[in-house]
Formats: sequence, structure tokens, C-alpha cells
Amino acid sequence: MKNLNLKLKKALKERKKQHRYRTRRITKGPQQIEMRIDDKDVISFCSNDYLGLANNPQIKQATINAINDFGVGSGSAHLVNGHSIIHHQLEEELAAFTGYPRAILFSTGYMANLGLCQALVEKGDYVFEDRLNHASLIDGGLISGARLQRYLHNDVSSLKQKIQKAGKTAEKLVLTDGVFSMDGDIADLPALSTLCKKTKSWLMVDDAHGFGTLGETGRGSLQHYALNQDDVPIYMATLGKAIGTAGAFIAGSDDLIETIIQQARTYIYTTAMPAAIAEATRFSLHIIKNESRHLYNLNDNIAYFRGCCLETALPIENSETAIQPIIIGDDYTALQISQSLFERGFMVTAIRPPTVSEGTSRLRITLSAKHTHEHIDGLIQALNSLL
Ligand SMILES: *Cc1c(COP(=O)(O)O)cnc(C)c1O
Repeated sequence: MKNLNLKLKKALKERKKQHRYRTRRITKGPQQIEMRIDDKDVISFCSNDYLGLANNPQIKQATINAINDFGVGSGSAHLVNGHSIIHHQLEEELAAFTGYPRAILFSTGYMANLGLCQALVEKGDYVFEDRLNHASLIDGGLISGARLQRYLHNDVSSLKQKIQKAGKTAEKLVLTDGVFSMDGDIADLPALSTLCKKTKSWLMVDDAHGFGTLGETGRGSLQHYALNQDDVPIYMATLGKAIGTAGAFIAGSDDLIETIIQQARTYIYTTAMPAAIAEATRFSLHIIKNESRHLYNLNDNIAYFRGCCLETALPIENSETAIQPIIIGDDYTALQISQSLFERGFMVTAIRPPTVSEGTSRLRITLSAKHTHEHIDGLIQALNSLL
């Protein structure tokens, strides 16, 4: 044990030296814009709670009511006796909302992505992924046993070359983020869809950052491009970001969902999420459908933030979404700026390799429906004094 700890200590020390050490800050109170973090009052610009629903009073009340009716724990997996009427209704509502025949709930987005790959491909098949895909998609491709190939970011001709080399007989699964989580740009779904149809490949979109935030009524990246289930046969989104709750779902054909139920190990061998959390999501969807002001405010804040950055020549990227990174480059500098922002009362995380590629460490600024223009003005001023 002693030797083992010494070995760990050495590796940790090395990591620290490279400015790659990860630490956690402790928050007190709910997820919202004004937060107390490490005993300091700060304005948060790093959450994925884009619509400000994580602490919504009506959603909280609906969850409390569901706890009174259904208790806390779900007790078992969906395939034993953990699949409640609430889970089932939520699946039907998610299918209707996204325009797919069926949807299936997962406890987390990470598990949904692993499960989908396990269910659809195996050794001898191919998985193609955008180089900037989320880690859970990469891990899904790896554990499936299929051959994993990564194409240049948002480059459909790069994907085409790789698909053509794969030959006609193998199963081909193409995975992409809808909105890239560290860059905020949107995948070229129309071109990807056309290529996948031509080459008889499955196209799967992970819309963790698009669901709730993109499209006229928040239906996500497909609505943004006016695509449907024929264009994108497999749609996945998470519920812990704009939806403000927890979990994830996959939407697709009846046969796809049945296949997942039979074959996705991360679905079969895990306890169902608490029914009350599913009820929270039902209520959140209800709010997204009926209260357009949340999405309106988010879009207004994105435009306001970008306008302020352009005016003051802050180096923003080409992103029209709630994710607005500022690329710093060097790991240490990114950390230092993040720390200085924190001291000035703004929480913005520094994202370093391996989450992003070498030399592209960045501040990942995210906007929410709940920011005021004054919050944004304050951040812009702090950024201008530090950069
Ligand atoms: C957050 C995220 C996930 C993982 O979802 P969780 O529910 O947090 O496990 C998957 N894909 C993308 C693109 C994400 O941003």
C-alpha cells in the first residue's frame, strides 16, 4: 500500500507541475447565477443551466409532489420493477417533443452514449467521430469494439474519405456533437445527413448543448436546421443542462429503442433514475413549451455578450450559442486568468488538455437566460482588464 501511494504521489506531483491538476470548488446553495463558491460570492459564467431552470420554483414543487407520491429511490433497474408510469410518460413526451416515434431514458448522458454504441455496433463495424466530440462519445466508440476513426472537425469531406475506405459491408455509425461543448459551434448536420444517407451509415447527434437552446422553440439542433427523423435517425440529448434536471434520452425508431432495451448494458444493468427526477423533467419540458421568455432571454444575452466583445475587441470565436470560449493557449495563463476572474467575483472555468487539444487552453464562458446585462458588463470589464 505504501509503495502504491508513493507511486500515485509522484504522478500527481508531475501533473501539478504541468498545470493539469484538477480541483473542485465547493458551492453552497442552488445552481443559479449568484452563487457562493469556496466561501466567496460570485457571478457564475460556467454553468450549463442555460435556461436558468435548475432552481425553478415550479419545477421544484412538482418534484416535491412526486417524491410524496413515489418516494425517493426507484429501487431497481427499468427491466425489473423500477420503470414507473412517470418514466414512461416522460419517454412519450420526449418522443413527441422531438418528433421521433420513441424515446428511452438513461440515468446520464455518458451512459446513454456508451449504451447506444454497445447496442448498435461490434467488432468488425466502424464508428466515425468528429475530432472534437465529447469524451463520452469517444469512450462509447472505444468500448463497442468497433474500429474507431476520427475525422477533422466539422469536415464532411474528411469523413467521406474515411467512410469510403471502410467498404460497403461493415456497419457504419457516425457520431457528432450537435453543439460542440468546448467551442460552441454547431455541426454541419445537413451535409452530414446527406453523406450518411448516400453511404448507408447511421447518423447519431448528441445534442447535449443544443436541446432546449437551439431552434425557434428550443427543440434543438434539428429544429435549427429544419431536419427530421429521416435526416437524423438517432437523436440523443441530456437533461442536466438546459433542461435543468438530470439524465438523458435517446430518440429514434421503435426498432432502435427496442434494440437498446435488449442490448445496451448501461441501460440494463443500472438502477432507474428516481421517478421524481423524471417528473422534474416533465415539468421543465412543460415550461419550455409554454414560457418562451427563457429562450428569448438566453438569445438576447448571447447577442449582447458578443456585441460587447466586438466593441472592446475581446477575441471571441465563431459561436452563435450559449458557449462562448476565449482561447488563451497556454495552460498556466488560462488558469491564472480564471483565478483572477474568481477573485473579482466571476466564476469562469479554465479548460485545459486533454479536454481540449494542446495549446488551446481556454476560458469557457457560458451564458444563461438569467444573466442581466449588468452581469455581462461586469464580466466584459474584468476580461478587458485581464487580457
Ligand atoms: C455533458 C455531456 C454529456 C454527458 O451527459 P451527462 O448527463 O452529464 O453524463 C454527453 N455529451 C455531451 C456533448 C455533453 O456535453
